[in-house]
Amino acid sequence: MKLIADLHTHTLFSSHAFNTATEMINQAQKLGLKAIAITDHGPLMPDSGHEWHFMNKGQLPKKLGDLIVLYGAEVDVVNINGDLDIGDYYLKNLDWVVASIHKEIIPKLSCEDATQLWLNIARNPYIDMIGHCEQVQHFFDYEKVIPVFAENNKVVELNVNSAVVRPTGQQNMLEIAKLCKKYRCRVAVNSDAHSIYKIGQTGNVLQMLESIDFPQELVINASYENFINELKIHNKYILKQIEE
Ligand SMILES: [Zn+2]
Ligand SMILES: [Zn+2]
Repeated sequence: MKLIADLHTHTLFSSHAFNTATEMINQAQKLGLKAIAITDHGPLMPDSGHEWHFMNKGQLPKKLGDLIVLYGAEVDVVNINGDLDIGDYYLKNLDWVVASIHKEIIPKLSCEDATQLWLNIARNPYIDMIGHCEQVQHFFDYEKVIPVFAENNKVVELNVNSAVVRPTGQQNMLEIAKLCKKYRCRVAVNSDAHSIYKIGQTGNVLQMLESIDFPQELVINASYENFINELKIHNKYILKQIEE
């Protein structure tokens, strides 16, 4: 399996990252990717900037050569009701929205609360992808939630950077992947790059998927066709713009 898109990356807008949007886009192009999503943190994360950032995507190209540039966000879930740190007014216009729990905002949850939180997120129409949900301190009832992610077209992210920054969750990631296969829930393998040097990296995640014979048609960034189909399912306005 080879990846054609990286759907979770950060720029200098998240100040613990190292490169500008321009540098990230140029590197993605150099690597021959077909798409990159820029998904900086929402305003509640300590390294983030102002919410206005998320209404300025018109400043960036939709397509550069063969590369589709999605302008999105990695929003923080702030409570078990599934409230987020970026308002719907901004989210509805973004090209790709990842919802994540970070321990800086929610240090720990009971299994019951984490399950409730993700069930609420699954029903939010503005969320496209579930970010690095394998963390041990936010363990949830996978059997209960993953079928609901599948029904609501939420893509489950298998985050390559987790092996470095959240290493205790690796066994959970494997369990999540097995259940995504069982319930036909689509996934994306992303670098969560914070510099140009990490874009498109896959770490041990592809090997993990091979070890459980994970179907390639469920990996939305494993082919251009899968990826475009996913944008269609999410009814993304950018499809119209890139066709123009
Ligand atoms: Zn994150
Ligand atoms: Zn991230």
